[in-house]
Amino acid sequence: MAGSETGHNQYYPFGDRPLPVGNGTAVNPPVVPVFDAAPLPEAARFVVVGAGVHGMSTAWHLAMALEKSGKGRGSDVVLIDKQGPGAGATGLACGCVRNLYMTEPLHAILRESVKVWESDPVNLGFQQVGYISVGEANQEEDYIRLHKSQNDQGYPSDLYVGAEARAKLKSVWPDFKTGSCDVVLHEKPSGYAGTHMACWGLDQKCHQWGVRRVYGREVTGYDKTGGTVTAVHTDAGSVRVGEALVVATGAWMPLHYQWLGGGDTLDVTYPDGHVEKAMDMWTYWRLLEGEVYLPEGVDFRTADGRDSPVLHVELMNTPVIGDDGKELQDHVYWYTRYAAERVGAPGLQGGTIPVKMGPKAALEPYGHLNDAYQADPWFADYYCAVAGQLFGRFEGLRSHYKERRNGGIGAFTPDNVPIFDWVADNAFMTADSNHGFKMIGVGRLVADLLSTGDMPEELQPFAFKRYGEGWTYGDRNSNCPWV
Ligand SMILES: Cc1cc2nc3c(=O)[nH]c(=O)nc-3n(C[C@H](O)[C@H](O)[C@H](O)COP(=O)(O)OP(=O)(O)OC[C@H]3O[C@@H](n4cnc5c(N)ncnc54)[C@H](O)[C@@H]3O)c2cc1C
Repeated sequence: MAGSETGHNQYYPFGDRPLPVGNGTAVNPPVVPVFDAAPLPEAARFVVVGAGVHGMSTAWHLAMALEKSGKGRGSDVVLIDKQGPGAGATGLACGCVRNLYMTEPLHAILRESVKVWESDPVNLGFQQVGYISVGEANQEEDYIRLHKSQNDQGYPSDLYVGAEARAKLKSVWPDFKTGSCDVVLHEKPSGYAGTHMACWGLDQKCHQWGVRRVYGREVTGYDKTGGTVTAVHTDAGSVRVGEALVVATGAWMPLHYQWLGGGDTLDVTYPDGHVEKAMDMWTYWRLLEGEVYLPEGVDFRTADGRDSPVLHVELMNTPVIGDDGKELQDHVYWYTRYAAERVGAPGLQGGTIPVKMGPKAALEPYGHLNDAYQADPWFADYYCAVAGQLFGRFEGLRSHYKERRNGGIGAFTPDNVPIFDWVADNAFMTADSNHGFKMIGVGRLVADLLSTGDMPEELQPFAFKRYGEGWTYGDRNSNCPWV
């Protein structure tokens, strides 16, 4: 495969590892070695499609719930992926675990998710360094509201406004150039996780609890009788569904949704009563991310020598100025974490606002292999310019940018907020609207639902019916769709 226009030439993480061959089309490989994969059974009580964070977390927690309650065995759960763990967005995400959402019901989803991250931080690769987000005065009201909601929902965070916000930033990073920073939120339970470690840990847990992990088998469609899914078809035969199907196929969700009878468009009612007719059910966005080596003698530690919290800065009224003095962008949107495990050396990984594409995308090859969806050439200049604009220590970082393939796409819902709901009488859809590496706890909540029959209260706000009933989300004061 040819390199991209940007000259990025590295197929992370495997260097020049040969591409898997499948129907003559390059496919994104699993990010961990596949071992002990099971053959496709003829029937299974529970079938989970997709070995990303949601599919693996669901399969693991469901197997555990069945074993612990005596209601069944781990082997009642079959997990199918056309490649294996992390072959979708989960394997290449930035790995940030944060709760900076204006959509308040997400705060409880993150509370439940951090419980899962904390349950085995070593095997899930979780670094609980915290998360600091920074805004200008125009976001002060939003921060006050979401700080209250986070704390009300059991997710501790501290809020700093005005001079206190700037003092807080200086106390963490003395070389931080506080400029127009007016409001700061410090989430204590947040952090990041190395994506490969998380995939390895999740796959191990599925294996340990007896999940039948069927890797390298592609789902090609579903049989429905009335409102019930009766079989899952694959390129290696079909499996009858006994009790329930969970579809957790990330960017491929639009295809599976269509196979299950879903439409391409939807009439969406908003809280003010207005209706948007025939909105696209799914919209693809292309992510802009990259990595940079830390030069000799430069670190990303705090004043007291600790690993830095993940940092998010949105300054909607502050332009980004390049090394040549020209304006690169009329606003700052920048997130960064320490990422040695990803960069392969002391370094940073981060990104900016994704680019809206539309209802269609070329899904194969996914991720870093797809020439069309790499971060744009301007991204490196932008990312490094913001770093230098915010930190004394990061001035002149551009020559340390890691030239490699990066980026990936995601399928967003009509209001950019997840849909966690039934799409058929026995088929559950986990569509995280590309928010959700961090949302590892959704799998546990779905497992609770499947093993008890009761919809957990944390999942209820993400029902389909919001679009018809007028409690559609999407109210936001940000340039970004992740709200
Ligand atoms: C570049 C990038 C950076 C991101 N950064 C962050 C971040 O910092 N923090 C965060 O919380 N989120 C982040 N996200 C979003 C997050 O990665 C995704 O929301 C999340 O990983 C989706 O998980 P999933 O399990 O739904 O899907 P995926 O991880 O995409 O897994 C879906 C799986 O389904 C399989 N599959 C698809 N079709 C079939 C089929 N027909 N048959 C069998 N298997 C099939 C695929 O092979 C794949 O393994 C990022 C996303 C991208 C693209």
